[in-house]
Amino acid sequence: MSGRREELRGRLDAVQARIAAACDAADRDPQELTLVVVTKTYPASDVTLLAELGVTDVGENRHPEAGEKAAEVAAPLRWHFMGGLQTNKAGAVARYADVVHSVDRAKLVASLGRGAAAAERDLEVLLQVDLGPEFGRPSDVRSGAAPTDLASLADAVAQTDRLHLGGVMTVAPLDVDPTPVFERLAALSQRLRADHPGAVTMSAGMSNDLEAAVAVGATHLRVGRAILGERPPLG
Ligand SMILES: *Cc1c(COP(=O)(O)O)cnc(C)c1O
Repeated sequence: MSGRREELRGRLDAVQARIAAACDAADRDPQELTLVVVTKTYPASDVTLLAELGVTDVGENRHPEAGEKAAEVAAPLRWHFMGGLQTNKAGAVARYADVVHSVDRAKLVASLGRGAAAAERDLEVLLQVDLGPEFGRPSDVRSGAAPTDLASLADAVAQTDRLHLGGVMTVAPLDVDPTPVFERLAALSQRLRADHPGAVTMSAGMSNDLEAAVAVGATHLRVGRAILGERPPLG
């Protein structure tokens, strides 16, 4: 176990050094950034080790795996849910998630609201935007809302008890320069904040493109492989 701890410590230090260098280059304060360590497919024991190493925020993308880990890990952590979420699982996710990064349709807003109310919990919601079609990729209905849907989705979240609009999130399409994608997200974020001044979160940047995200103003980075190691291919 101590071998794994040292491995995680070394990779976490390396990622933090990358973030510090990117902040330096962009003239930003690293304090403005939250590192969400994406622990999907890795065991709860890794999450506990990360918490001992000072990690405060972890990310998962599948229910029930996420809920099982949240129940097993005693350390106080903020749990971020990202990735496709079926409406009929939203109530369960609202019981343990603190932030949901993947809200992309009105039905999901309603389901999360009901789940959060039933659990008597507050939930931060980020609107996931699918920028693929603007950058030459086919649109994938499950990977985010169209930019034109953001304003109405934001209003729906703002009008739902127990939900708090945190901001926006995107995943840069594979094999595309991430910089213009993240710049577009930053512009959408700015437009959203005109109507919802509290929606300051911009979740962008993963293991391969975190520097590009820091450069354009991301507030939350979602880093998995660079810290945990390569995941086995999905079965
Ligand atoms: C898995 C995942 C990440 C982390 O990606 P890495 O390439 O492992 O850093 C970030 N965001 C989402 C939505 C993910 O599903």
